[in-house]
Amino acid sequence: MSRVMIIGAGGVGRVVAYKCAEYPEVFTEFMIASRTQSKCDEIAADIKSDLGYDKITTAAVDAEDVPALTKLIKDYDPFMVIHVALPYQDLTIMDACLEAGVHYLDTANYEPKEEAKFEYSHQWAYQEKFKLAGLTAILGCGFDPGVTSIFTARAATHFFDEIHYLDIVDANAGDHGKAFATNFNPEINIREITQPGKYWENGKWVEIPAFSIRKDLTYPDIGPKESYVLYHEELESLVKHFPTLKRARFWMTFGDEYLTHLRVIQNIGMAGIEPVMHKGVEIIPLEFLKTVLPDPGGLGEGYSGQTSIGCRIRGIKDGQERTYYIWNNCSHERAYRETRAQGVSYTTGVPAMTGAMMLIQGKWDGTGVYNVEQFNPDPFLEVLGKHGLEWHEEVGADLEL
Ligand code: NDP
Repeated sequence: MSRVMIIGAGGVGRVVAYKCAEYPEVFTEFMIASRTQSKCDEIAADIKSDLGYDKITTAAVDAEDVPALTKLIKDYDPFMVIHVALPYQDLTIMDACLEAGVHYLDTANYEPKEEAKFEYSHQWAYQEKFKLAGLTAILGCGFDPGVTSIFTARAATHFFDEIHYLDIVDANAGDHGKAFATNFNPEINIREITQPGKYWENGKWVEIPAFSIRKDLTYPDIGPKESYVLYHEELESLVKHFPTLKRARFWMTFGDEYLTHLRVIQNIGMAGIEPVMHKGVEIIPLEFLKTVLPDPGGLGEGYSGQTSIGCRIRGIKDGQERTYYIWNNCSHERAYRETRAQGVSYTTGVPAMTGAMMLIQGKWDGTGVYNVEQFNPDPFLEVLGKHGLEWHEEVGADLEL
């Protein structure tokens, strides 16, 4: 039985709130705090009408204002903070959690606003502080990072003596009916995918131009989709925690239409993160673009199709080479029926709630800063299907890679 504070009221915050409300025996009450309080109120009202759960408090807070956030946390006194606002706020929220003496969980690693470069070093540097305070910080507990890291831990624990090749494969075969939209925060998403690609091979990072490695991969219940190698943050922690990996790559599907829009956005300067003057006011082109693009939290209605995200792994068991595939498929329609949010928000929010539940129930513990693959994967995966993300696995799968 615990009280938690959810920070962020976008598509992911909505799903976390719905899922917490579905388990009132664990999440006895919670607060949704975000920059715009009306968005928190809307989620609380939807949950009350859909689920009858009415133990939600809402608040407005700028999560980059450490004293204000610390005060809010101290006043509400939660067991932990579930941070599903933006990666820019990771460090200020970690600081406020330390000040207020509460545990922390997030779904994306820190990225400075002025440089589109995300890496764990900023947050791993909090290791001693969290240890000394006797607190836990859980990093990257969405789907990818998150479930993909836990899938890898399951493979390493139960199916291999050594894992050698890891390919994380992420398909979205959904159709939201819009000419162009991103499935989570457009600013964070466009910064992520326009960076050069990168993968791990033979003990070092190999950098490649964005979208330069492409392959048709076949996804369960979906079929073949054009997939591209890009850099994704869980690769950094996975190669650290599974040093037997000889190669680790991340693949994501993109349609031609999406890539054409992206190319135009870049070519006309709208993906820029340097300030420009517009009618006497300084604006950041990418921030302005976010304002005019569809809100990812509002894409759910009429979104058809599904996502499929999993890990394809090759390694050694009892001296023999073995292949293994573990994945989840998630229907956008089903996610919307349950939470009024689309599948990408759903696949992020469900693991965030499940990770919080693990900490509350003492199934994950330890003081300091942890990536999710460092915890026991079993109790998490035991309940993930029941929480809405059923998963499947196949030993001896044809990996195509
Ligand atoms: P949205 O943009 O829809 O929502 C972000 C929320 O954070 C908004 O409510 C926003 O408030 C709030 N916010 C922004 N800045 C602040 C601030 N300074 N103080 C308080 N609140 C703030 O994003 P999504 O819900 O789609 O995604 C949330 C995050 O989840 C993503 O940015 C990404 O990092 C992570 N993610 C992780 C995935 C994974 O698998 N691990 C996959 C997808 C997303 P306002 O409404 O006022 O702007």
